[in-house]
Amino acid sequence: MAPRKLAAGNWKMNGDLAALAEIDLLREAYPDPGCEVLICPPALLVHPMKERVGAHKMTVGGQDCHANASGAHTGDISAVQLKDAGAAYVILGHSERRADHGETDADVAAKAAAAHGAGLIAIICVGETEAQRDADETLAVIGAQLAGSLPDGASAANTVIAYEPVWAIGTGRTPTNEQIAEVHAFMREQLQGRVSDAGDVALLYGGSVKPGNATEIFAIAHVDGALVGGASLKAADFGGIISAL
Ligand code: PGA
Repeated sequence: MAPRKLAAGNWKMNGDLAALAEIDLLREAYPDPGCEVLICPPALLVHPMKERVGAHKMTVGGQDCHANASGAHTGDISAVQLKDAGAAYVILGHSERRADHGETDADVAAKAAAAHGAGLIAIICVGETEAQRDADETLAVIGAQLAGSLPDGASAANTVIAYEPVWAIGTGRTPTNEQIAEVHAFMREQLQGRVSDAGDVALLYGGSVKPGNATEIFAIAHVDGALVGGASLKAADFGGIISAL
């Protein structure tokens, strides 16, 4: 098996029922895409988006889940519920969750274990801040986040890793190709010993991926796809990234 090739869209807290028209545009433009296409909308839209996808092979995912399957957790959503609504994936440990909700590596590992238990593929996000990069701590930070956020039982079938430098998210700035290559090779190496099929785990790059830089980024060794925020909201932009992969 080779790593899955995945173009994953993260709509964040954007979009409404009318925005599902973008799904129609993607279905029409890419009836049989050459990579996996995933969109993770706000939780309220998971089910209607899945309905809109219909028989197309595009998949839908959540942006977070609780570590428990059910219970007294007002405002939260479980992995089991995401699965029931039609999700195939869930993004976990995004830097916005880590910053806005204080999520720790241990929280992410517990959520990933819940996702696996529910039959979801977990996209585990890691990435350094600008201050950490400036202090030459990038690989140490990524290594610690990976070690702490991966649950037991992670495999290429149930886990995807996304490298998202915090300073590149929504800023229009990206690392150099050499910097992306260094981190992705390091992540591949770090997975050895932790995951039996480490060579087959898809490693995504995320942070200001656009149609204009996607081809160059996808040519970097160990980059198996992208996690895309802003440029996933419009089919015209996301389509450019799908075509590049
Ligand atoms: P961006 O976001 O593509 O808008 O930079 C990426 C992400 O946060 O997943």
